[in-house]
Amino acid sequence: MGIEEKLPAGFLLSTVEGLAGYMRKASMWPVTFGLACCAIEMMAVGTPDYDIARFGMERFSATPRQADLMIVAGRVSQKMAPVVRQVYDQMPNPKWVISMGVCASSGGMFNNYAIVQGVDHIIPVDIYLPGCPPRPQMLLNAIIELHKQVQSTPLGVNRVAAARAAEEAALQATPTHQMKGLLA
Ligand code: SF4
Repeated sequence: MGIEEKLPAGFLLSTVEGLAGYMRKASMWPVTFGLACCAIEMMAVGTPDYDIARFGMERFSATPRQADLMIVAGRVSQKMAPVVRQVYDQMPNPKWVISMGVCASSGGMFNNYAIVQGVDHIIPVDIYLPGCPPRPQMLLNAIIELHKQVQSTPLGVNRVAAARAAEEAALQATPTHQMKGLLA
């Protein structure tokens, strides 16, 4: 009798999924990326007071090829949008995004033509973090929530397709011709 028959149904799959989820969440590296004042709070999580190294994430990667988390810290200008998208595209899958602060999430107080009214118009977002600016503790809390999400994501979920669907939904919600060009 094989080991599968001796174990409760789904035991092996759930164990493998749990292990894969644990390894993914415990080996997350953020890409070095800061856009405005929120970035100062993001940098603070690396200091001894907040110590992001407790989660194995102190290595902010200078190359998107070796990063799987983008923390969009600050307002995204129209000029910067293609750069944000390019850095995101250069990150390998699976990858995650935290939108840090009201400016990144919705444009915040910058309700004008120069600022993208929410970074989810150009990239899919997993966690929205409110505040202006969010404190480093709030960012750590968002990271912990993201870790829980990653840990519980079943294997085989096509995150690329899910991300594409989220992008399409965002574009349908607010048609923005310039943004459509970025996704081509
Ligand atoms: S949310 Fe506040 S702190 Fe963050 S980029 Fe906007 S203005 Fe700056």
